[in-house]
Amino acid sequence: MKRKRRSMKVTCPSCKRRIKIRKKERNTKCNYCDHEFQYSKCFGKIDERYLVDTNIVIYAANNDHFLGEHCKQVFNNGAGALVTTDAVMNELSLRQRDHMHFTKIYSVKGISPEVAELHYDTQEDLSLADKSLIQCAIDHPEIAGIITYDKDISNVVPARLIKSEKKFFIGNAEQFLKKINRL
Ligand SMILES: [Zn+2]
Repeated sequence: MKRKRRSMKVTCPSCKRRIKIRKKERNTKCNYCDHEFQYSKCFGKIDERYLVDTNIVIYAANNDHFLGEHCKQVFNNGAGALVTTDAVMNELSLRQRDHMHFTKIYSVKGISPEVAELHYDTQEDLSLADKSLIQCAIDHPEIAGIITYDKDISNVVPARLIKSEKKFFIGNAEQFLKKINRL
């Protein structure tokens, strides 16, 4: 029986030391010299997941006059790839929760200091749900993007925070549907 690899030892090409890379972590930097490994080279391709923000669920569940159709299409076409966080679920009513199916609901245990200090240009703090989405993306390498109508999220998340080989996606329902060629 083939065992699933959770971590692997590799020789750092830069400093030649043996280091361990964990499958569950996005960070693939050498502890000694900061050399960055390509995650996909170590573990192969992973099934990409997209985090769904509260506003997408609400527009879909409420049949929003302008945005409801695109948001419902996200759930119709993105099945299997859609995930969210417990903090987003807490912002939803029971009826809204029942409405949508998520492949996984991540329990975000703690917010790291670099995420905690993020704020909008107006100095206004991000909501707990927003912070949980960003933290979840940082912690889990399978997260390929965030689907949201919150324009500010893309402005406040510095690229260095989420390490990703491909460009990390932050966009609304319409942009997501275009990305997966359903629009
Ligand atoms: Zn090294």
